[in-house]
Amino acid sequence: MKGKAYLVGAGPGDYGLITIKGMELIKKADVIIYDRLINSGYLLSARKGCELIYAGKGPKNHEMTQEEISRLIADKALEGKLVVRLKGGDPYVFGRGGEEALQLRESGVEFEVVPGITSAVAGLAYAGIPITHRGVADSFHVITGHLAAGERRDWRALAELKGTLVFLMGMENLGHIAKELIQNGKSPDTPAAVINWATTGRQKVAVSTLSGIEAEARAAGLGSPSLIAVGEVVELRSELAFFEKLPLHGKRVIVTRSRGQASALSGRLREMGAETVEIPAIEIVNEPFGEALEKAIKDLRGYTHIVFTSVNGVDIFFESLSAAGLDSRSLSGMTVAAIGPATEAALKDRGIRADIVPAEYTGENVAASLLPTIRRDSRVLLPRAKGARRELVELLSRECRVDEVVTYEAAMPKQEKDSAQAIAELEKADIVTFTSSSTVRNFIGLIGEEGIPILKEKLIVSIGPITSMELEKYGLKPSLQAAEYTIDGLLDVMKKNAEVE
Ligand code: SAH
Repeated sequence: MKGKAYLVGAGPGDYGLITIKGMELIKKADVIIYDRLINSGYLLSARKGCELIYAGKGPKNHEMTQEEISRLIADKALEGKLVVRLKGGDPYVFGRGGEEALQLRESGVEFEVVPGITSAVAGLAYAGIPITHRGVADSFHVITGHLAAGERRDWRALAELKGTLVFLMGMENLGHIAKELIQNGKSPDTPAAVINWATTGRQKVAVSTLSGIEAEARAAGLGSPSLIAVGEVVELRSELAFFEKLPLHGKRVIVTRSRGQASALSGRLREMGAETVEIPAIEIVNEPFGEALEKAIKDLRGYTHIVFTSVNGVDIFFESLSAAGLDSRSLSGMTVAAIGPATEAALKDRGIRADIVPAEYTGENVAASLLPTIRRDSRVLLPRAKGARRELVELLSRECRVDEVVTYEAAMPKQEKDSAQAIAELEKADIVTFTSSSTVRNFIGLIGEEGIPILKEKLIVSIGPITSMELEKYGLKPSLQAAEYTIDGLLDVMKKNAEVE
């Protein structure tokens, strides 16, 4: 098979700012060779078994030379693989993408370029600065701020440009750039901005004049990566800034759900301006439990009720049903209960409208709302996770026969992040979210005893009382608990809290 390489622009940092084409390639790739400045969340979309290679070059530490990286892309493609070379922003804007493409061409490797949103444009936009503006700037110029030793630059020509100037890789030379522009004729009062970690939850912006920008940026502690914008358009920021106004802007939030589910919650948090770190704390394992479920499905006619207590439970049940050559019609005539709205929605996706959804989402309430429909000869099937709470079974089995069938286990994932890494992430975070008691158990298992005091200092957000109870077992008190025990409720309480803060 012939391999192929794609030079893919990963955009400026905000998870949403990648192209559809780029994302589809990430999902298909055999090998992803990625840079330092890409949003690492994209790597979670790589398929199982995809080889992930870090080829980042920091401003100081060159871990792999450009030649080595270019060769590596070509070699992997020559092995017959689909290679995605994932680069920050746009691959051809100061990304040395051109060199990589030339190497591919020379090696006879077929390749394509997938453009990305460059930070030069998007970074200004997210800072509230339109890069051109009628009557203010009718051109823009993207310039490297990195000056090779002994390089002579025509500063006069740059200083004479009337359009917006955007310098990339310029933080080490910020003072020098400002000085040269002023000495060559640009007014020292020209508005200027430094935009650090643009489009991410860490975005910070310093605004001043050309003569004052260095002091202002240093005082704000802004280093690399930053964009330096010079021109009258910078003044529009006072009217057009939007990104910093999002409720969770500037907050780093740890998300501890199973891998598949984590991304949905993270996405919602990012919409609220947060920076998210996914530490998947549970993994759904249904390996050894298949047989019991198959048996229950064979015997489905014998049940009058079926109770689902999680989305995973629904997914696994219907997969098994389908594997047995059956479909949702097998549930006709049964009373179907869902523990809460997410489970209800998962059932609806399978064409089943739940008969019973309690107002509060705990086992006790499911039992209370089921009881009126139960007779002595009822038979309840309860397919659910290993180690689930006993209350529901105990309450119902006083009235009739209840078959609990363990269909999966919410297990601790084989860690991609070890304990030290998890603690390091925890230290940097402001908020930690817990969406079930198993995420609490497994996360604490991961960070260990020494992590608990660190966790104590963070804003801990719990999805509901059962999760909070689990936290209390470790001497932790949630700072916030959702009023409605759902992801929406969780986001809601965080938003309300941010408003009063
Ligand atoms: N190909 C990239 C640029 C690579 S050069 C693009 O199109 O955006 C790396 C430089 O880009 C950094 O030194 C910084 O100046 C700029 N940069 C990239 N991402 C940035 C971000 N999120 N915030 C601020 N500057 C960024």
